[in-house]
Amino acid sequence: MTVPFEVVTPDRVVLTIDVDMVSLRGGGGEIGILPRHIPLSTTVKPGVVKVKLPEGEDYVAVTSGFLQVVPDKITLLVETAEVGSLIDIDRAMRARERAEKRIAEHANEADLLRAEAALQRALNRLEAAELSARYGDLIKQRIM
Ligand code: ATP
Repeated sequence: MTVPFEVVTPDRVVLTIDVDMVSLRGGGGEIGILPRHIPLSTTVKPGVVKVKLPEGEDYVAVTSGFLQVVPDKITLLVETAEVGSLIDIDRAMRARERAEKRIAEHANEADLLRAEAALQRALNRLEAAELSARYGDLIKQRIM
């Protein structure tokens, strides 16, 4: 049994796909959502979302947002989201280097926090890209 899963950002619908399960970092910790889950609304932390499909698993990098679950749909509303296999790895590596450099330069508190957040986004993207490739880029295969 599957449930429709939609990932939406302010710019676009990133993904609509039927899934067996979604696991992500909610405000209160790691959560897994299966079909027919009771209604749930919670915040989402930046991280790597695991998407279980009938044929295997794939990964989506997300920044912060909101999760809304009803028994027949899972909706993730986040600031940014990229399917792992569609991530530009060179760009994420450049972002990681820039952030690490800014952190090493001992910027002021505000700049440091920004650099740490940028570093985390880059690391999440690199992790999602690597996991996605390891498990066969399944979402890309399905949607293309
Ligand atoms: P960069 O410094 O490379 O722009 P960033 O963390 O500042 O990275 P964001 O502001 O989080 O980027 O995202 C801006 C837009 O670019 C979003 O639409 C996001 O999905 C997309 N994006 C960011 N990095 C990548 C990447 N490595 N591959 C694909 N899309 C990306």
